[in-house]
Amino acid sequence: MEIIHSSKEIQNRMIAARAEGKRIGFVPTMGALHTGHIALAEKVRPDCDILVLSIFVNPLQFGPSEDLDKYPRTLESDAEKAQAAGVDIIFAPSPREMYPQGFETTVSCGSITTRLEGAARPGHFDGVTTVVLKLFNIVQPHVSVFGQKDAQQVLVIRRMVEDLSIPVELDILPTVRESDGLAMSSRNAYLTSEERLQGPIIQRGLLDAQEAWNRGERNAEQLRKIVLNCYAQSSLMTTEYVSVADYSCVELSGEISSEVLLSVVCRTAVSQTRLIDNSIMKLLD
Ligand code: AMP
Repeated sequence: MEIIHSSKEIQNRMIAARAEGKRIGFVPTMGALHTGHIALAEKVRPDCDILVLSIFVNPLQFGPSEDLDKYPRTLESDAEKAQAAGVDIIFAPSPREMYPQGFETTVSCGSITTRLEGAARPGHFDGVTTVVLKLFNIVQPHVSVFGQKDAQQVLVIRRMVEDLSIPVELDILPTVRESDGLAMSSRNAYLTSEERLQGPIIQRGLLDAQEAWNRGERNAEQLRKIVLNCYAQSSLMTTEYVSVADYSCVELSGEISSEVLLSVVCRTAVSQTRLIDNSIMKLLD
């Protein structure tokens, strides 16, 4: 496995690989790799000849008061994990390499990016789509895999790929969880041991709503209330939002007649860690 820092170098290599008929798979990440990231790599590995994983803590997608500076950067151990997962090339550019002096372009995907995470983190999705399109242009993947853990991100990237006719297939991996149900995240490293013990409550709320849904509950307010009631039991977490929305991330009310993206954000009391999770509830008929 190689680690490449230069975008020109990897782009030239990928253009040559494409010319030889090689199929390129791509996993974009911000590093601090955990089992969820590794599962993304393993999912796409059999579907490509060359597997590229990028590690870039993208300043454009962090707000001014967010955790850009303290976000974990662990390239050495990431490289070991990526190699074990069958990654051929790690692309690890510096911020200056991605955004040289004079960089001015923003890719913006419209109304979906103003809702949920976009409302809570203004500008976040512009940062995501700008870096993902740039990474696609550098790596030139045939297939790229993303996690359902960031469900709105998947919907936004799908929008961009469709709207801009980007020639890449998207593959989505279900959320990978710790054995107690907490969704894996690089940010879980921030949690105090007491906060970590309460982590499973986040999925518990989603499962409570899923059970109610399975029993026939279709009222959006009721579903929201079920999740909020569950989170009220946690002494170490406040709920930032519980959203019952459609696939355009528009909040639903009253009786639901579409598929639902139930997404939640909690903030822990001591380390002030922002934890996100979601589940999708489908109508069977
Ligand atoms: P990040 O490094 O947080 O930017 O995430 C890189 C990719 O890994 C994104 O597509 C995420 O959705 C995905 N990802 C992160 N955590 C998980 C998880 N627990 N399960 C599945 N995919 C994940």
